[in-house]
Amino acid sequence: MTQPARIVVVGSLNMDLVVKAPRIALEGETIKGGTFSTMPGGKGANQAVAASRLGAHVHMVGCVGDDGFGRELLDNLHKANVNTDYVTTVSGSSSGVAMIAVSESGENSIVIAPGANDRMAPEYVRQAESIIREADVVLIQLEIPMETVEEAVVIANRHQVPVILNPAPARSLPEALLKQIDILTPNETEGKLIVTGRAEGDIDVEEIIHDLKSKGVRQVVMTLGGEGVAYSAGEAVQRLKAYTVDVMDTTGAGDSFNAGLGVYLAEGGSLEEAVRFAQKVAALSVTGFGAQASFPSRTEVEGFQ
Ligand code: ATP
Repeated sequence: MTQPARIVVVGSLNMDLVVKAPRIALEGETIKGGTFSTMPGGKGANQAVAASRLGAHVHMVGCVGDDGFGRELLDNLHKANVNTDYVTTVSGSSSGVAMIAVSESGENSIVIAPGANDRMAPEYVRQAESIIREADVVLIQLEIPMETVEEAVVIANRHQVPVILNPAPARSLPEALLKQIDILTPNETEGKLIVTGRAEGDIDVEEIIHDLKSKGVRQVVMTLGGEGVAYSAGEAVQRLKAYTVDVMDTTGAGDSFNAGLGVYLAEGGSLEEAVRFAQKVAALSVTGFGAQASFPSRTEVEGFQ
């Protein structure tokens, strides 16, 4: 392919505020922590940065607040070569933030204040229709209002642009929406919740995938963490093992996987090839710390065996 893949990401931008602490504080307790760092995140921005690093031409559609974090989040996308013409600064709103405490034993506690992400009305997606129409793939997640997700899917369908919906964080989804999705990429918990209405319970992966397909999703690619992936291949379900790597931090594995899948499909690859490529991207991402900081370049992925 001579032109880079054109990807539009419709989703969230957050600033992650990370404090290391000896342990997670109990309710009502104050404890002394260690180092503090701010890291740009949000599932939407993560997927946009990951796709750009893989060589795609990426537009982000989203909202930031009218504050210092908003300016930093925009600046971060510019540095990653992501187009922000359709990232709106919402006046009177704070930017999305995730307050993350990480304990020495690796446990974490996270509180997300969605801020401007919750103010992302369908109107902002309608304004971006001209770039969605030109895209090879649209990537969407669920950290923005559901009516905005639905609007993005309707617009992409109108122009026959394939939609990858990463249904994270977990929540139930309307059946009318599922019928319009080309590829749904839940993890096991998200898949269970969509199919049964509950995140726990005994239902096997094959059953979840068949059920999602019977609800009208065209293809399902279910990520299984260190186990790899199960995906629909016609009426059957195929499994591919994850690559064996030295795991340092799995934050952002799902986001890098979705970006890899989207970029490879946008370049005209088959679903199986795209899953293999996405697993390489995600495997490399878990060998480094953080989310965006650990996303690999195209050259790194192509050199990975
Ligand atoms: P997160 O929300 O933590 O980003 P997720 O639940 O959306 O992740 P996972 O299923 O945990 O997504 O991981 C996505 C993909 O990343 C997996 O399908 C796999 O290819 C890769 N991956 C995750 N963990 C590992 C691991 N320990 N070793 C190798 N690859 C991994």
